[in-house]
Amino acid sequence: MVNNSRHCGYVAIIGKPNVGKSTLLNKIIARKISITADKPQTTRHQIAGIKTLANAQIIYVDTPGIHAKQKFQLNHYMNKVALKTMNTVDVILFMVNGLVWDAEDTYILEFLKKAKCPVILLINKVDKIENKEKLLPYLDNLNKKMAFAKIVPLSATTGANVDVLEKTIVNFLPEGKFLFSEKQTTDRDDKFLAAEIIREKLVRWLGQELPYATTVVIESFANTNHTLRISATIIVERDGQKIIIIGKQGAMLKKIGTLARKDMESLFHRKVFLTLWVKVSDSWSDDAAALERLGYN
Ligand code: GDP
Ligand code: MG
Repeated sequence: MVNNSRHCGYVAIIGKPNVGKSTLLNKIIARKISITADKPQTTRHQIAGIKTLANAQIIYVDTPGIHAKQKFQLNHYMNKVALKTMNTVDVILFMVNGLVWDAEDTYILEFLKKAKCPVILLINKVDKIENKEKLLPYLDNLNKKMAFAKIVPLSATTGANVDVLEKTIVNFLPEGKFLFSEKQTTDRDDKFLAAEIIREKLVRWLGQELPYATTVVIESFANTNHTLRISATIIVERDGQKIIIIGKQGAMLKKIGTLARKDMESLFHRKVFLTLWVKVSDSWSDDAAALERLGYN
């Protein structure tokens, strides 16, 4: 039977930090648009990737995590965004780690029970499971927790079963015409990507020492004679944090700048001159007005 109908809709990937949401998005969309790192909470913005197939267009929304503790304004903001996302998408992908279920997963599960759209449960990192026989009873157990539309075990890094996931998603998308041009892969602009690359380097190299409230602001982004001139400010909360980021005789900042520049050159396919500054802004993560100024509104 030939089915010529087209499907199009929004899909959110929801799950606690570090389960592999960004990795999956990168695998599906191919271009490196979403930042992955071993440290949680690297994805602060809502990033959309668009995948156009022959008969379907899947628009991915990578939501910030849902946080049990609302300690800071920023976490409150993230909760609000996650809630809003949940109520405006057509399908939710709830991602958990293979064989390990914890209180954070339960917190999100309770949240997702209120969703009006189908929720597909993704069991990620199955490549790490040595004894695959343990997977079946685990799936059985999860199936009892909530009426999932489907359960898909997969590996975001190896790509195993990702094709099955895409077909499953299409089955749950509403019929309708494509909302974006087929060439579009992300709705984020180059300035945003540049800032995320710098953030990724900071997280990778400073890890725990990097305060969660660190942000990167692109001050200028100029494209002349096939050369990009980018100037960015890293905003931290305290002098001590500024000192750590700069490093001994500027060594850390230089390393971060060099690594970020190389990634930018391969992403933008041109020479990049990158200037980095570090600035202290007092406890801006508690200040809703400052958040808005920085674009988190
Ligand atoms: P996010 O916080 O949910 O966006 O998680 P990330 O995509 O940043 O991934 C967190 C970490 O888990 C990274 O080190 C990934 O390389 C790793 N990871 C993600 N998916 C897989 C997977 O399928 N298998 C394995 N072994 N590691 C994975
Ligand atoms: Mg992420």
